[in-house]
Amino acid sequence: MKKETLMELLRDYDSFYLYDEEVIREHTRRLKKDLPGVEFLYSIKCNPHRLVVRSVFEEGFGADAASLGEVLLAREQGLEAENIYYSAPGKTEKDISAALGRCVLIADSISEVERIQKTAAAAGVTAKIGVRLNPGFGFGGGEGGPSKFGIDEDRAMAVLPEWMALSNVEVVGLHVHMRSQVLDAGLLGRYYESLFELAERFQTALGRPLAFLNMGSGIGLPYALTDTALDTAGLGERVRELMERFRSRLPGIRILIEVGRYAVGKSGVYVTKVVDKKVSRGVTYVVLKNTLNGFIRPSLARLVMSYAAEEKPKGSEPLFTAPDAFGFCPLTADEREEETVTLVGNLCTATDVMAQGVTLPRVEVGDGVAVTNAGSYAAVLSPTQFSGQTPPAELFLTVKGEILEGLEE
Ligand SMILES: *Cc1c(COP(=O)(O)O)cnc(C)c1O
Repeated sequence: MKKETLMELLRDYDSFYLYDEEVIREHTRRLKKDLPGVEFLYSIKCNPHRLVVRSVFEEGFGADAASLGEVLLAREQGLEAENIYYSAPGKTEKDISAALGRCVLIADSISEVERIQKTAAAAGVTAKIGVRLNPGFGFGGGEGGPSKFGIDEDRAMAVLPEWMALSNVEVVGLHVHMRSQVLDAGLLGRYYESLFELAERFQTALGRPLAFLNMGSGIGLPYALTDTALDTAGLGERVRELMERFRSRLPGIRILIEVGRYAVGKSGVYVTKVVDKKVSRGVTYVVLKNTLNGFIRPSLARLVMSYAAEEKPKGSEPLFTAPDAFGFCPLTADEREEETVTLVGNLCTATDVMAQGVTLPRVEVGDGVAVTNAGSYAAVLSPTQFSGQTPPAELFLTVKGEILEGLEE
């Protein structure tokens, strides 16, 4: 993204996100090229901006919907029911009833299977569903633990005969998602292998071929400068080998992977204007528009670090990835000497600190600061209602170079 474009926009907007379509196209195409034979779903929850969603869908992605609202959004964008997978804990009967026939429901608990049965029976239809499992193994090996997500593998196996006797529910697929933001292709590959084996166990108990195995996400992005990008080509090789090995044992199964951040995380930048600057007892404060209440994650990272005993506390996605996950880039018209400053926001709380004691080229009131890695879990996670501030705009840069604010063109 060009600095000049951002600076020009800064004249009209005090704070904004800009999503770059070209970066979305690059990332989505790379996945499809490196993992041929896999069907991809976009996890809408990470960035539901209509133009972002549309670009991803245009690359042939289906939808991973985390709510009824996201199911309807995907429908509105023209996806067919069989390409929308609705997986979330705690769906209400209303959600289920409205979602029936509009997507593939993924049951998250045993009682949810019963609710789907009841709802489908009342509607006089048969729901072909997936079930989300909490496998008997852990992500990196070892035994599986308790989880609020899915149905424990052994319990699912035990109730399977009852599910098979249901009049209006047909279990046709499996879903597992255990970890986000993995950068080690070897680790992800071994997890996928465990999932193919799990699918085979489940299919044997079911006594007929499974239609799909949704392996969830895990596909990570390099955030910190020290991160190494995931070897997607290597991962694709591993998946190809697994598909080959299990071809006759899992005949006709569709392999799905859902990604949020990988598709769009790098496409976004957050830009905020310097609205004041002051010095207090030797510390220079740069006051920015809408930090915690525009893009919360840099402030959250600082908050986590202020309590952390370790130098590198483990990630807690999608709220905290790493202490240095976001880069700050001053937007000024000319070259400036460096200065050590603390970047704070304009809220009446002391917690909106984006960065403390960072050395950057000097910024003055009216200049801007661009923050990187703002394409996923950014606008959606930020408390924009707090303090009645005008929220940041969300803008979209098309491959043709136009800037759009919404779907209307
Ligand atoms: C949020 C979520 C994802 C997306 O995770 P990313 O790390 O953004 O790729 C995928 N699957 C499920 C079930 C999720 O809840």
